[in-house]
Amino acid sequence: MKIVFATGNGGKLREASEILGEGFELVTLAQAGITEEIPETGKTLRANSIQKAEYVWNKCGMACFADDTGLEVDALGGAPGVHTARYAGDDKDFNRNMDRLLQEMQIVETEASMAVAVGLKVRKISRRARFKSVITLIIDGEKHIFEGVLEGTIARERSGNGGFGYDPVFIPDEFPGQTLADISEEQKNSISHRGKALRAMAAYLASL
Ligand code: IMP
Repeated sequence: MKIVFATGNGGKLREASEILGEGFELVTLAQAGITEEIPETGKTLRANSIQKAEYVWNKCGMACFADDTGLEVDALGGAPGVHTARYAGDDKDFNRNMDRLLQEMQIVETEASMAVAVGLKVRKISRRARFKSVITLIIDGEKHIFEGVLEGTIARERSGNGGFGYDPVFIPDEFPGQTLADISEEQKNSISHRGKALRAMAAYLASL
């Protein structure tokens, strides 16, 4: 089946084509004639995912899907969340995003240890976090939403050369001591937020 994937992110595209396999021919935005940046002005992952898919559907009328992903960190009150791509600025620089995340974690941990030093009782800072992906599929003009979550913790420093985005600072529960950038692409896809959402979408399409 031919389907447009509304992303300009090479890492997402590679993962999706691996996960969906041979039954799908993924059409890129450029191949669908969309070269401008798609607006992402929603306040939630779901709103952004719908906005991106609707934009593509309205422009080319082909079956399409969009993925919006966010990283939620408990110690940061759920940040960066919907601001994950632009956490350190509008240039979406993944190195600066990871630097900011590690710095913010350092700040909350330092504040907590200062509070302990002056005799206050504070809870130990949790490094627990999760990736959430929301996929919107539009087929025959109808929208369908699929979600996937990956639980883990934020590493103290970067590790690994694989993956993309925040992968070097995220340790999934399934691979203790290794970040998503340390494990193979196959291992990441078998547990990832995007893998879960995409497999749910593929199962739905197979049931039609
Ligand atoms: P968006 O869904 O394209 O808006 O991406 C949100 C942000 O999350 C970007 O900074 C991506 O690099 C990052 N991101 C999305 N998926 C992943 C992933 O699987 N691993 C690590 N970072 C990701």
